[in-house]
Amino acid sequence: MTTPPWVSGQEAKPAPMPLLLVQSFVNTWDVDHARDLLLDPASASDWLTEAGLWDADRAPEPAELDLARRVRESIRALLVANGGGPPPAPVDLQAIRAAAQAARPALRVGSRGQVSIEAEPAGPLDAGLATLLLAIRDAQRDGTWQRLKACGNPDCQWAFYDRSHSRAGAWCDMATCGNRIKNRRLRQRRR
Ligand SMILES: [Zn+2]
Repeated sequence: MTTPPWVSGQEAKPAPMPLLLVQSFVNTWDVDHARDLLLDPASASDWLTEAGLWDADRAPEPAELDLARRVRESIRALLVANGGGPPPAPVDLQAIRAAAQAARPALRVGSRGQVSIEAEPAGPLDAGLATLLLAIRDAQRDGTWQRLKACGNPDCQWAFYDRSHSRAGAWCDMATCGNRIKNRRLRQRRR
């Protein structure tokens, strides 16, 4: 599989599509490189458009990006729970619930009678967020959702897809994350 351009070059454990979209959305925030693709309207517009989550002639407005980042951290809280962390608190769910409320899913019947749900919301960001929510719903039904986790290293929290048989993976295995843990252990041992 060729990696889509909107997937981070550091994605060592990619999820299958369309869950990969959710994973890549969460990983637009890269704590190790202090890089947030959803902070600046121009870079956010580029990334969201490439990922098919933004379809407008204008760049997202600061308030829209603020909502997108809050939804991202909402989803991250769900991935922390998937990784064995605490269940999301009501405050963690606020942004994703707001996105769900703004979504207007529409039922469609294709030429061969295949029934699908598509996002048909008011604004371009609502449409993109609804697409993410539908991907989460599908993954929750087919059992892949539980495998999408936030890295157990609190300094990292990178979203990774756990393909292990036991489903017990807890770390993203990103080279930088591994190094960080290793360095910390080294420091502890020296003490
Ligand atoms: Zn990590």
